[in-house]
Amino acid sequence: MLDRDRCIALDAEDPLRDFRHEFTMTEGVIYLVGNSLGALPRRTPERVRQAVEEEWGGRLVGGWNTAGWYDLPLTVGDRIAPLIGVGPGQVVAGNSTSIAIHQAVAAALKLRPGRRVIVSDVRNFPTDHYMVQGLAGALGGYEIRDFAEGRFDDAAVVLLSEVDYRTSERHDVAEVTARVQAAGALMIWDVCHSVGALQVDVSAADFAVGCTYKYLNAGPGAPAFLYVNPRHHADARNDLSGWHSHAEPFAFEADYRPAEGIRRFAVSTPHVLSFAALQAALDVWERVPLDLLRAKSVALGSLLVDLVGDALELASPADAERRGSHVSFRHPDGYPVMRALIDRGVHGDFRAPDILRFGLAPLYTRYVDVYDAAGTLLEVLDKEHWRDEKYTQRLAVT
Ligand SMILES: *Cc1c(COP(=O)(O)O)cnc(C)c1O
Repeated sequence: MLDRDRCIALDAEDPLRDFRHEFTMTEGVIYLVGNSLGALPRRTPERVRQAVEEEWGGRLVGGWNTAGWYDLPLTVGDRIAPLIGVGPGQVVAGNSTSIAIHQAVAAALKLRPGRRVIVSDVRNFPTDHYMVQGLAGALGGYEIRDFAEGRFDDAAVVLLSEVDYRTSERHDVAEVTARVQAAGALMIWDVCHSVGALQVDVSAADFAVGCTYKYLNAGPGAPAFLYVNPRHHADARNDLSGWHSHAEPFAFEADYRPAEGIRRFAVSTPHVLSFAALQAALDVWERVPLDLLRAKSVALGSLLVDLVGDALELASPADAERRGSHVSFRHPDGYPVMRALIDRGVHGDFRAPDILRFGLAPLYTRYVDVYDAAGTLLEVLDKEHWRDEKYTQRLAVT
């Protein structure tokens, strides 16, 4: 087992150690929630100030032409593409993940008109499954089947997360994609919990969606993204056919005509100020070696699992290769345990009914942070600090 000095030595040797200086870190806080809301990059406030004062204030409506606002969904999409293993002209940024899920599922159903089954994972992050339920209800005549049934031969589309938001269990993207497509269905991956943490490669998939406010650190409410495999660009329909997906938005024609290429999946006016924060976050990502990122994520996760030992039941796969970049444990009183931990400066989060989650963001999480977090957790459990009444009351966001 590693001791604290060895963890400090590992941090000193860590090839990613300098990336921590790219972030604003709060003194006295061990932040293990980067899988929910990433930390603030140091260059973001200046980039946002520039977008507000120089672009908006200085150029006013001219910013649409001179500050590149109109093309943000495509130019920023091209910068996200290498993080998910795909090429330029294949990713559009904007809106939210839920909106992108609607677009991808609706497009996939139209591409498989003879099939009436949508496969979705009932344990997936609820919005994914809710969006499928909403769309199936609006269209009528569709059956929703749970992914665990493993039957795709009559399915139009399969929607699945690469990494499970609760347990951190990781699916084999290449294997599942091949199996789904061999059955004649289309594959949509949700990479919210893997982009910026793993070497994601969705290039064989039909569609993929993801958010940028988790491991990518683009800030609360940052634009999401949608990947559409180029083989579908000519035939796929964008059901949310807003004017920015029109072939000539500024012709103001009465009838809709889709744009060529990935622009067809834009929707409407981009959230320019949120894009500014996303651009600053991506400046950091341009320099990150993803193989080293994954290697450190695996090492941090294994360290946490080893240190916690059998003090808590591990909810994540024991095999690090089968995990994403967070580690989850079960405790029947998980909520007060997490509140007691946060009170002592270790920030993880709780997911009902009994999951304690610890996100390990290799760009700014150190080995010594994991060591100290585990020590505090063991103490909270051992001394039963969590039984204090002040920790039982639920806050609005957990
Ligand atoms: C975080 C997350 C989302 C978020 O959806 P929003 O539309 O951004 O609220 C969706 N799906 C998964 C799997 C997530 O982890």
